[in-house]
Amino acid sequence: MVNFVGAGPGAADLITVRGMRLLKEADIIIYAGSLVNKELLSFAGAECRIYNSAEMTLEEVIEVMRDNTDKAVVRLHTGDPSIYGAIREQIDELDRLGIEYEICPGVSSMFGAAAALKAEYTLPDVSQSVIITRMAGRTPVPERESIESFAAHNATMVIFLSAGMLDELSERLIAGGYTPDTPAAIVYKATWADEKTVITTVKNLAEAARKSGITKTALITVGGFLGESYDRSRLYDPEFSHEFRKAKQRGYPE
Ligand code: SAH
Repeated sequence: MVNFVGAGPGAADLITVRGMRLLKEADIIIYAGSLVNKELLSFAGAECRIYNSAEMTLEEVIEVMRDNTDKAVVRLHTGDPSIYGAIREQIDELDRLGIEYEICPGVSSMFGAAAALKAEYTLPDVSQSVIITRMAGRTPVPERESIESFAAHNATMVIFLSAGMLDELSERLIAGGYTPDTPAAIVYKATWADEKTVITTVKNLAEAARKSGITKTALITVGGFLGESYDRSRLYDPEFSHEFRKAKQRGYPE
């Protein structure tokens, strides 16, 4: 049995309770060495065998899984496995080999970043949508998903895997439709001890990153959600009733 487990964004205690139990019970852990906090490995039992997938190919990872079908194998991915986790290619191999697996979700770094920024991505009257994307790197991005096309929405954007390409990112965000002074943030190593947040504007992203020495392990967030104005929510509006609460009459004493 293989369990794909989301390790969370960085801080070891941001793994889920279930993820922690699976780590403790694992006979084998294959962890994504580049970004998973190694502190998590200290929860493994004394007999547990540990592999760093940063040094392995997909074939080698699958081989470990195939050779240990009688054992509890944990495949530990950073953040949540469903976001840029490259789990689908593993799952398809496991299906082909008839090996059972389950997925335990994790806290994505995009939520670690929102917490670091003390921000809400979805503000009434600002944006009710979050676009999760990246610049093309070794993995191409389909043309219809260009940064420009997403920028045209002026929605909240969270951009992964792009901290090394900020000059181009800025240009394309502006070409797509954000004004140059739309607020933007760079969140480096969200929830780790050396976390850094830099608040800037779309046009100054690259310069702000250079000044803070940030080149990788960062998320870029963009949009009016980082600004000052928004509408208050209907959910907690005294004049608005819903399933669990009746509207209070205006002027009526509490
Ligand atoms: N599955 C992961 C993302 C893996 S892709 C998740 O859900 O978070 C790797 C990219 O994620 C990095 O290049 C960086 O853009 C981002 N990232 C991962 N951990 C991060 C962190 N703690 N702080 C900021 N960005 C992070």
